This record gives sequence, C-alpha cells and structure tokens, in this order.
Amino acid sequence: MRNCNHAVPDTVAAVSTPFGKGGVALLRISGTEAVAIADRVFRPAGGRPFSASTDRTAVYGQIVTPDGDVIDDGVAVLFRAPRSFTGEDTVELTCHGGILITQCVLTALLEAGARQAEPGEFTRRAFVHGRMGLSETEALGNLLDAKSHEQLTLARGALHRGGLSAEVEAVYARLMDALANMEAGMDFPEEDLTDLTPSEIRHIVTEAQTRVGRLLDTYRTGHAIAEGIPTVICGKPNVGKSSFYNRLLGREAAIVTDVAGTTRDVLSESITVGRVTVRLFDTAGLHDTDDRVEQIGVARAKQALAEAELILALFDVSRPLDTEDESLLDELAQTRKAVVYVCHKADLADVSSKELTARLGENAPVVRISSADGSGLDELVATVESLYINETIHTDSDAVVFSARQNQALGRAAEHIEAALTHLSDGWTYDLCAEDIRCAMEALAELDGRSAREDVIGEIFSRFCVGK
Ligand code: GDP
Repeated sequence: MRNCNHAVPDTVAAVSTPFGKGGVALLRISGTEAVAIADRVFRPAGGRPFSASTDRTAVYGQIVTPDGDVIDDGVAVLFRAPRSFTGEDTVELTCHGGILITQCVLTALLEAGARQAEPGEFTRRAFVHGRMGLSETEALGNLLDAKSHEQLTLARGALHRGGLSAEVEAVYARLMDALANMEAGMDFPEEDLTDLTPSEIRHIVTEAQTRVGRLLDTYRTGHAIAEGIPTVICGKPNVGKSSFYNRLLGREAAIVTDVAGTTRDVLSESITVGRVTVRLFDTAGLHDTDDRVEQIGVARAKQALAEAELILALFDVSRPLDTEDESLLDELAQTRKAVVYVCHKADLADVSSKELTARLGENAPVVRISSADGSGLDELVATVESLYINETIHTDSDAVVFSARQNQALGRAAEHIEAALTHLSDGWTYDLCAEDIRCAMEALAELDGRSAREDVIGEIFSRFCVGK
C-alpha cells in the first residue's frame, strides 16, 4: 500500500451516471459503513438482508427510505474491500434513470448516513488505498475526457497495462538496490555487507539513466496526443486566418469578412490534426492599430503567440509578398517554436509561392492550402504528424509519458541520476552519490504519487466529476 497520509474516515455516496433522464442510473456508496447503509435503503427480494448477499453478485430488490417508504425497485451489487474500485467496501445501486427517482435514492443514502462525495472522491480513495498510482489516475481522467481514438488508446494503455508506472517502478527498484548497497557500505565499512561492486553500481545507475532518457523521449508524442499542442494561426489581416480556422474546425466558429481587422479576440478550440491534438488559437491580425478594442485583441494574440508551441503561418500566395509578410518571415526565422508555412488561397492564381519556398529553403515545412475548397488539408495532417508523432512508439503498449507533471518529475530524476554518475566518476565519496540517488528516487516516487504534494494531487482529482 502507498504511503499516503490522506485519511478517509467516512462513507460517501454519489450518483455516478450523468444528471438527466436515462434507462438506468447508478449510485455508488463507498467506505466502512457502505454495507450498513445499503442495508437501511435496500431490501432484497429474497428477504435476507443485503449484507448477507454474495460478493459481486447482482441482487434484485426494493429501494426504500430509512423510514421504509418505497422509492423504486433496483439492483444492488456488493464489492467487499479490498476487491473494489476504491479498495473499500463499496455498493453499486442501480435504479430507474429518472431525475427525481435518482435524487430520492441519493437523499435516502445521505439520510441513512452517507456523505455526498466530492468530485473525483471515489478515484481518490482508490489512489489512497493503493488501487492505482497517480499516473494511472491521470490516465483515467484522460480516458473520460478523450475526444480522439489516439487519446483513448494512450489512456487505456497507461491504465490497464500500467506501462508508465510499471517502468517507473522498475527503475525505482533498481536504484533502491544500488542505494541499499551503498548505504550498507557507508554504515559498516569494515563489514563486507555490500554485494555490488562499484562498477556494478555504476552500471545500475547508467541503466537507470538510459531508461529515464527513453521515457523522456516519449513525451513529445504523448504530449501531442494527450495534452495537445498550443497552436496559433498567424499572418497579416485578410490572409484568411479565420477562414482557415473555420476550415480546420469544420464550422463557422470565427467571423469571416473581407474587411481587414475583423477578428478582434482570440478564440480557442481543441481539434485533432491526424493523430495530433491541436489546441488552436485563432488570433486577431497581428498588426498596428489605433482601435482600442482591436489593440486588446492584438495584445491577447501576442500572449497566445508567446505560449504557442506550433505556429501555422499563413501567406496569401494569390498576391505578391509584401512588407508585412517579410517582417513575419523575419520574426519566424528567429523563433524556436515549430512553424508550418501555409501557402494560403491556393485555389487562386499563384503569384508568390515560388518566392516564398525559395526564401524558406528546401527543408522548411510548407503546405499549400485553400480554405475555400478544403484542398491541402491532408498534407497539413502529414506535416504536423511528422513533427510530433514518433512512429516507433506503440501508444497502446509502450510506457509513454503523457503529462507535463510526469515529464517534470522525470526531468528532475534525470538530473539527479546524471549528478550521481558525475560524482561516481569523479571518485567522490559514496554519500554524495547516495544523496543524488535518493533525490532521483524521490522524483520517481512523486511521478507515481507515493510522495506527491497535496496540491498536485488535489489538482488531478479536481478534474473528475462527482461520482467518479
Ligand atoms: P483574416 O483577416 O486573416 O482572418 O481573413 P478572413 O478569414 O476573414 O478572410 C479574408 C478574405 O479572404 C475573405 O473574403 C475570405 O473569403 C477570403 N479567403 C479566405 N481563405 C480563402 C481561400 O482559401 N481562398 C480564397 N479564394 N479566398 C479566401
């Protein structure tokens, strides 16, 4: 069991299905009193108390208030600790999916002694009781939020095969071996307690470095699928940014007119470009203006541009490049962000794409697109995927880092491992090196939640809805 100091004294209940009318609604009760509470509100048809029923078996009966008034008939299933989602005694109660019926059943459970669960509290209890690690709960959150098949595949892989946690656990265990040996050598130098030679210890730490490095390499792909790449569309007024944004979204989300400077705010939306999730910001034309409202739009656009990782830069190739295009090209030449150059309005007579491509050089990612007829979007998909998707990674079975939190923790582990190796090769005493290894292990433990900070944990669980 994980060493977490998050006491869970009481029994909680919640409706786990979405609010609204449906075929059935499911309510969950979890905690030490779950079975006793179920006994107060559920009368099995067979006449025996619910608490006498077999674990994990559906029992049909009446749902009643604690005073004995019948609310509905339904089905209850008992999951005794620890073989339940939360690791606690849990009862799942299914009733007819009416809004009022469901509310009455929940009220009965609360009157019978349960407390209304907080958002994500069932999952949090599962974490506290060691049923899942922190990266698995993140995967579960992603599974529920998934909007693309790639997101689903990645989340399922992390959740069910525990790819990432298993790999992190393995590295942790190896470092633990090295540390135990070093500490035994330091504490009792005269007794020969160590069974690893210094070169074996170096080998273990080097191997940990390789494994952590390999994990870190997966983040570009994991981030692109799971979190999404903050992306801006930029270009001078009237180059067709709003039309392009709408074409990518497949609907009219931004206002398109032929008056320059009509896009006054920054719109944002998550879309999939092939396997990559793109968090798309449609920015106001980045240009000088005296209009105050437009100035705000331009300032927000600059902010979005600063935070973006990918820039889709539009050039109207139906016209010659002008000074605004030139200054955008100069700016993009300086940026360290990824840039895809779009020869836009490709349906019209092309007067400047040759000049543009000649200026950018052969290897620059350039695509020809018409937002008027939708041509060129396949090329955009291929280009964006080639920037972010590592085809050697199997997102359904490999250990893949998929959140910034995991990436940061691993990055810290990598730094401490590197420091440990430097200390080893500089011939430093074992205690400095042991401290580095201890810090690396702590970072790995944070990744999986064994020693994560309360605010970090709270942030993850706040993403869940009530009843999950
Ligand atoms: P923005 O100011 O950059 O957001 O540009 P808009 O999206 O408002 O488009 C400016 C004008 O260009 C409008 O009249 C659009 O209909 C037109 N336009 C946008 N994309 C294309 C395109 O791919 N082909 C053609 N022919 N016209 C386009």
